[in-house]
Amino acid sequence: MVASNATTEALTTATTLLDKLEDAGQQSLVLAVDIGGTKMDVAVVDGSGGFLWRDRRETPGSPDGEDVFAPLGQLVAEAVRFAGDRLVACGVGCGGPMAQDGVTVSPLNIPAWRDFPLRERLKELSGVPTLVDNDAKALALGEGWIGGARGCGNYLAMVVSTGVGGGLVMDGKLLEGASGNAGHIGHVVVEPEGRACACGGRGCLEAEASGLSIEAITGFPAKEASLPVRQRTGTLVGRAVASVASLLDLPLALVGGSVALGFGEPFFAAAQDEVSYRCGLSFARETRVVPVMLGERGPLVGAAALGWNVLPGGHRAKR
Ligand SMILES: [Zn+2]
Repeated sequence: MVASNATTEALTTATTLLDKLEDAGQQSLVLAVDIGGTKMDVAVVDGSGGFLWRDRRETPGSPDGEDVFAPLGQLVAEAVRFAGDRLVACGVGCGGPMAQDGVTVSPLNIPAWRDFPLRERLKELSGVPTLVDNDAKALALGEGWIGGARGCGNYLAMVVSTGVGGGLVMDGKLLEGASGNAGHIGHVVVEPEGRACACGGRGCLEAEASGLSIEAITGFPAKEASLPVRQRTGTLVGRAVASVASLLDLPLALVGGSVALGFGEPFFAAAQDEVSYRCGLSFARETRVVPVMLGERGPLVGAAALGWNVLPGGHRAKR
């Protein structure tokens, strides 16, 4: 699919996704795959977002791409056997960057995979249409389906963990952008003279507020961060949210990820204060910054939502 088609096809909204699930019937199942730098998580998910089967493995640290794929392949094969002929699609959330439509992936957190043909490999194993997309975009879809953004057509969902990522839903549509990379809030500048970022920029949110950055700045893992560090991280996230909310008229920002959720209330209070402080326009000043609702299930629910999008009628059909 070329990018221009994305704007003309009916992009899937939380509402149409629910309609589609009813069409698909409760008998159909999707395979949900979440691939991170530390673990690979696989579930068989029903039309209500329920997990019927789930297992995970550590992501191998091997420099060989096939070594990294092997345990994932085993998990997927087990899940496919469990689901049987009820399996209709496979959705995969993975770190970026990736080629358009996730044909090949080169996740920064898995150095062994550079231009790895993940979609084709999983499609072969699962035998069903397969969609690979950015994990933060998946999370945004999942929160809109059965999480904290249900019924909300305009929101940002973001992850603050080892890195920082995000996905945007506007007018009920998951934003793609020209190359499928819309939503990279981790590279919005929050400190103009701040730290150099891995992307080549400077002062990006990710360079100041990710788990890796916090450890580099303080000398301690993020989970040991002091109260001022927790608050500063919240302030910087709030600063990025303020810019995005003003630009896009978004009333809701859902924030997940181990750093944000681990920092808890001081983080969210600082983020909300910063939004109020930075936003002069009333619509943006009222933007709420709240934790994601799906918690640790969110990435897999999001991957499942991607999977449902591959079905006929979904905006990523014909895979
Ligand atoms: Zn950057």
